[in-house]
Amino acid sequence: MQTHNLGYPRIGTHRELKKANEEYWQNKTSLKNLLQVGKNIRKQNWQLQKEAGIDWIPSNDFSFYDQVLDLSLTVGAIPERYHAVALNKENSEMDLYFAMARGYQKNGIDIKAMEMTKWFDTNYHYIVPEFYKNQEFKLLSTKIIDNYYEALQLGIITKPVIIGPVSYLLLGKEKEEGFDKLDLIKNLLPVYLEILRKLEPLDLEWIQFDEPFLAMDISAKAKKAYQYVYSEIKKEFPQIKTLVATYFDGLKDNTELALSLPVCALHIDLVRCPEQLDKVLSIIPSKLSLSLGIVDGRNVWKNDFTKSLGFIYKAISTLGDNRVMIAPSCSLIHSPCDLDIETIMSSEIKNWMAFAKQKLNEIVALNYLARGEKLAFLEENKKAMESRKNSTLIHSSKVKERVASIREEDAQRQNPFSLRREKQVKALKLPLFPTTTIGSFPQTTEVRSWRSKFKKGELTAAEYDALLKKETEESVRWQEEIGMDVLVHGEFERNDMVEYFGEQLQGYVFSKNGWVQSYGSRCVKPPIVFGDVSRPKEMTVYWSKYAQSLTNKLMKGMLTGPVTILQWSFVRDDQPRWQTAFQIALAIRDEVCDLENAGIKVIQIDEPAIREGLPLRKADWNNYLNWAVKAFRVSASGVKDETQIHTHMCYSEFNDIIQNIADMDADVITIECSRSQMELLDAFADFKYPNEIGPGVYDIHSPRVPSKEEMVDLLNKAKAVISVEQLWVNPDCGLKTRHWPETKKALTEMVSAAKMLRLSVKEEVLS
Ligand code: GLN
Ligand code: ZN
Repeated sequence: MQTHNLGYPRIGTHRELKKANEEYWQNKTSLKNLLQVGKNIRKQNWQLQKEAGIDWIPSNDFSFYDQVLDLSLTVGAIPERYHAVALNKENSEMDLYFAMARGYQKNGIDIKAMEMTKWFDTNYHYIVPEFYKNQEFKLLSTKIIDNYYEALQLGIITKPVIIGPVSYLLLGKEKEEGFDKLDLIKNLLPVYLEILRKLEPLDLEWIQFDEPFLAMDISAKAKKAYQYVYSEIKKEFPQIKTLVATYFDGLKDNTELALSLPVCALHIDLVRCPEQLDKVLSIIPSKLSLSLGIVDGRNVWKNDFTKSLGFIYKAISTLGDNRVMIAPSCSLIHSPCDLDIETIMSSEIKNWMAFAKQKLNEIVALNYLARGEKLAFLEENKKAMESRKNSTLIHSSKVKERVASIREEDAQRQNPFSLRREKQVKALKLPLFPTTTIGSFPQTTEVRSWRSKFKKGELTAAEYDALLKKETEESVRWQEEIGMDVLVHGEFERNDMVEYFGEQLQGYVFSKNGWVQSYGSRCVKPPIVFGDVSRPKEMTVYWSKYAQSLTNKLMKGMLTGPVTILQWSFVRDDQPRWQTAFQIALAIRDEVCDLENAGIKVIQIDEPAIREGLPLRKADWNNYLNWAVKAFRVSASGVKDETQIHTHMCYSEFNDIIQNIADMDADVITIECSRSQMELLDAFADFKYPNEIGPGVYDIHSPRVPSKEEMVDLLNKAKAVISVEQLWVNPDCGLKTRHWPETKKALTEMVSAAKMLRLSVKEEVLS
């Protein structure tokens, strides 16, 4: 049995790549230095994998920005607007590459970046390939060959990794009408063949084609394309060992197709879809090898060796050990690099975890164990599993019982919206077109420096508190001055909308270096839910109460919702996600009730991540949406009718889940809208969304200050499809990343826009 890896984190254990990239972009380091940093990381990664004992180590998994963009450069899919960058002799291939990734503004040229979107259901973002009707492809960048050769020089025969041609086309976007991107397959395939032609004489043995779309819902045309490309590759290169890798879901209805491809090995994700193994083994053709993705590439927990050995023995008994390979479930770019450098985490909790480096050791250990060697590994692993299973740190019977006893009525407000609305109108006395913001105000360098000084002990708790209070008071005074209707305290005390809550909840732990690439040089460090989640004490009441005490106007309480907290954390794998979601929901519910008791009459529960949690296969949507919506409702339903619950989502695609959004039954929802010129309100209008809506009229992603007239114009568009009583006036999202001067100007304009609309409605009524 052979071991292999699908991809290794490329940001460097100490985020060396991030630093080098950013220095290069700021002209603080030379291209030569940047390239050297890349070379060092590749070398370290290869050597580390070799020392771990992995048989087939990937190459071409390294990328300065994104592997999909790398491929666009490889196959010469350069949109025309970048040709000017390429033609300028002063620019290197890297400059062209970064121009596509980040845009280009130099010497009077101003070119926008390519679009970026989420890589399946991960938090990694890729650069979307652009396809045109008469798209030609040619081998432009030889990175895959160069990287393979570089490893060869170091004495390592690697397995180059490349996104397969069908998945590459499916990841892209047609930028013109009148053609289907899959029709480009005939033009694209020759570039792949040329790459193989160049690699073959260099002792190439294995090559890995990533085809995650084989585990998604795909069209008949895509299925045909799969047959076509892999037959052609086989025809021309019968000697090369081809591995097709699938991940993030099961083959399901594509099982027969995937198994019929004329390739040497197929990789399946047994973490996401363990149940597929039986079907695959029952119909696998006699020449095909199977790669078992058994170590979770997307989470931080130690592998359960007993369970994995079960899969391995089963596969070996059908296929014999020379037709079985083992690997992580997917590329390890989705896990943090190295647990060994975590020094402050409790050793008990640390002993339940494995980051990328440790996951490779697990693969190798499983290989020994499958051969009946080094049984001590199994004993050690069993001990760790046992300790986690029984730990009092993890398990709280009180929390579990509370989740088990959630009743239907706990997920329901006392009365339907129409009745609540009447009571809220009386209690809140808001004008038409009430104005509010989404929560955060600018986190200035000053505010951030207080926090960091406080963390370092350079400010006492009392000093830090006083500074935050001063900042909060100023923001309250200023909101009063411009005539905002529902105020916010500004969230100055928060570093991040999930971390802030994670830090105060039981069941959460934080790593110091557990960074994962999000896009380009951006990395995130998700908090880790290791145990039953509960709320030892109030989390936000102090600040909301303080802010409310400063004003007679309504002060909105500000919370992050259970689905978003779940989605942006590493979560437990020893219980279903929904169970963790309900534990968090109960903690938020208690906070909502405490806010209400403290006199807060309007409470916002942000759920910007509900949509991104959607499963990859449509057949699984309903199940997810049912528990996700219910978790939100549990968090929101403990209050009386008079208390107004808001939610916020900062994206715009609602069409396919609008019913579920309505089922959340928030009294008010604020959404992003300004960029699309209110077009996405159509979904709400067609559906006849029953509750109140605040379509964003101020694009907070740009420093630009919109004028009152522009916002009135947007609101008139909204008014054409949504009734006047339903409309709120607010920005697209929080203002954390903006600066004060533009924020003040824009919000002043926004309040005047609302006033203008109130007047015009009055006139309409009078006339
Ligand atoms: N209340 C949060 C803020 O204003 C919401 C942020 C978000 O939706 N991403 O910052
Ligand atoms: Zn938002």
